[in-house]
Amino acid sequence: MNKGVLFLVSGPSGAGKGTVLKNFLPKHPDMFYSISATTRAPRPGEENGVQYYFMTAAEFEKLRMEGGFLESATFCGNSYGTPRAAVMEKLEKGIDVLLEIEVQGALQVMENYPEGIFIFIAPPSMDELRTRLVGRQTEEASVIETRLARAEEEMALAEKYTYIVVNDIAERAAEDLEAILVAEKLRTARRK
Ligand code: 5GP
Repeated sequence: MNKGVLFLVSGPSGAGKGTVLKNFLPKHPDMFYSISATTRAPRPGEENGVQYYFMTAAEFEKLRMEGGFLESATFCGNSYGTPRAAVMEKLEKGIDVLLEIEVQGALQVMENYPEGIFIFIAPPSMDELRTRLVGRQTEEASVIETRLARAEEEMALAEKYTYIVVNDIAERAAEDLEAILVAEKLRTARRK
């Protein structure tokens, strides 16, 4: 039996990873969407074990020290990590896995699991990224400037990825993801 394929979607905050995946995931109920662990507080409506596994800093650190994460990173003062066991178990069973994580974590997965398929979701332009971050109205002006500065650094890492998808319109970008998935599954090397 073939192993599952690990697809990783990443990109700067505000590039619209979440919106693209909302268009993509319902069409792929057979894929395993990895639920991350985080130390950030749940937002209204978020439930433990659905959007995230919400943990205390001590619980997170214990799991990290035990090697329980495939990758982990700090983002805006909180820790985020991909639980290793669930992902590896699905891949072994031949189930494809999808991770949606920020760029520092993605770089670690490139090291730890180079056979993964790495997809960078880019905003159409930095101007558009600014418009989106301002439009969300979830961050203060100074935080937006910090995120934009970080986004510029993150854009420079795009070339390390297998694919770059420009998120101009989320539905269209989801079709690009679809094309990547189909092509990767058809690779000769996977068709044993
Ligand atoms: P939020 O707090 O808005 O849900 O997520 C903040 C950022 O953390 C997003 O860019 C999201 O992709 C990223 N993130 C979510 N889960 C993980 C994870 O397991 N590992 C890493 N490295 N980043 C994650």
